[in-house]
Amino acid sequence: MKYLSEYRDERIARALAAEIAERTTSPWVLMEICGGQTHTIMRYGLDELLPPGLELVHGPGCPVCVTPLETIDAAIELALRPEVILVSYGDMLRVPGSRSDLFRAKAQGAEVRVVYSPMEALKIAREHPSRKVVFLAIGFETTAPANAMAAWQAKQEGLTNFSLLVSHVLVPPAIRGLLASPANRVQAFIAPGHVCTIMGCAEYEALVRDFNVPIVVGGFEPIDLLQAVLMLVKQLEAGEAKLENQYVRSVSYQGNLPAQQIMAEVFEVADQKWRGIGSIPGSGLRLREEFAAYDATRVFSLTDISVDEPAECISAQVLQGLKKPTDCPAFGMRCTPENPLGAPMVSSEGACAAYYRYRRHAAAS
Ligand code: SF4
Repeated sequence: MKYLSEYRDERIARALAAEIAERTTSPWVLMEICGGQTHTIMRYGLDELLPPGLELVHGPGCPVCVTPLETIDAAIELALRPEVILVSYGDMLRVPGSRSDLFRAKAQGAEVRVVYSPMEALKIAREHPSRKVVFLAIGFETTAPANAMAAWQAKQEGLTNFSLLVSHVLVPPAIRGLLASPANRVQAFIAPGHVCTIMGCAEYEALVRDFNVPIVVGGFEPIDLLQAVLMLVKQLEAGEAKLENQYVRSVSYQGNLPAQQIMAEVFEVADQKWRGIGSIPGSGLRLREEFAAYDATRVFSLTDISVDEPAECISAQVLQGLKKPTDCPAFGMRCTPENPLGAPMVSSEGACAAYYRYRRHAAAS
């Protein structure tokens, strides 16, 4: 298949791995940001092709994993109201909140519907004018334009029974937070290609400049990731720090301008809590004042709550690249995809689920 099989070619992968090994003379720690990239690395065993000392750690780029417990709790609370239809992407249903999850709420009689697009949520709102339809709008910059479009369309139509429970996160402020942390050990980043397809590359240039750190925008296939690793190793070994784009077949420097425009019209940047990590300044999106009538937190007067993660879940350290999933004492024992303690074991993009699914079933301890 064109544009797919050539990016999974084993001979090319082994040649790239050999060149990476040849050029690596020092130990380096690289982080891939996106959970989709983590899954490719685990699925194809790319980390095992790399030379000793070249370590890949896994970043906070799984939107389900970083959605705060408080948002899940709020979604469950809304879903249990008789007037509400709670609409969500399917992978959010099993994410544990502090006491329950949306699947259990559904079993208790809540009306929870799964969709593939926020436009389907709008359709449900049109079809049920006597109910209040709430869409759980989570994700990175990739899903924000479609969610913004749903709010914009609802306003155009004058829909009064549709709102968004928003938990949007932004990648560059999260990388900035990681780099500014005294505990940081990451020396170079593979930036998420799909986010850059929307947002372009300019924000990453500022990170390269401010922290003197190499960043390569990378794709999601094995050859994409090995090429990105090679580009980073070349920079690190040469003592350089540049922004480069490996994923040129999708990412342009300016990104998708109409998508950025609708995001800017509907959302504004706000501080955002990341599950397990805490609040990161300017790392989220909230609905602008003009769209307050579509903001579920205002429509339902939801109050700020704060709840703690399960004590034994070390997802915060996993999401910051400080620990591997197999370092967690609960991994594969008390925490499995069937019975997850933390979000990284639930989501199809979570690092713990990736380790569990692809051969790393044995806990380290
Ligand atoms: S294995 Fe489970 S408990 Fe451990 S960090 Fe991952 S999600 Fe949390």
